Amino acid sequence: MKKLLSVVGAASLLTALPVYAFTTFGTPYSASQIPVPVYGDETSTLDACAGLSEYTGTSKRAYLSWNAVPNNSFRWRAGGWNGPIYGVPDGINGIFFREINDVGVLGQTTFNMYNGKRDSDVKIDINQNWNCGPEDPWWTQIDMESVILHEVGHQLGLGHSDDPNAVMWWSIGMGVSKRVPQSDDIAGIQYLY
Ligand SMILES: [Zn+2]
Repeated sequence: MKKLLSVVGAASLLTALPVYAFTTFGTPYSASQIPVPVYGDETSTLDACAGLSEYTGTSKRAYLSWNAVPNNSFRWRAGGWNGPIYGVPDGINGIFFREINDVGVLGQTTFNMYNGKRDSDVKIDINQNWNCGPEDPWWTQIDMESVILHEVGHQLGLGHSDDPNAVMWWSIGMGVSKRVPQSDDIAGIQYLY
């Protein structure tokens, strides 16, 4: 009987407190790196969304959506063109539009340390039926802004969330827009920064 009571007590405690599902990905950016510059890659190609291979257009909207989360110290800024190399610890945080050969993978993000500081690169697959926005995607399209928002969440240090409503949930369907960080994502960035 005593054991049963303690279980009930634990259950009511869980409903009374917010329970977050976010996880973290690598060492966060240090305060001296913020605002973190994002660099474009001159060799990126993307026929469907021309001109998106740096901090402009669809990419910029996604980066600024993370900047807009209140009550945390994290900010991105445009870095321009500085020859980042994907996945290599070079101290340059980039976004790349390239082929990803793994079937079903829309984007990838790497994490390294360079001279004691976080170095993270995003790669977006060019071979998808993308919607560049800002219009909503058709049911046959993948929403690029939503995918970049997710990968940039990894880039700033969030892992996958167990909350299906979160931007940091591991998958996204065709025709789905998730362009704003949700409560679990917000809790994650506020926890890190
Ligand atoms: Zn992911």
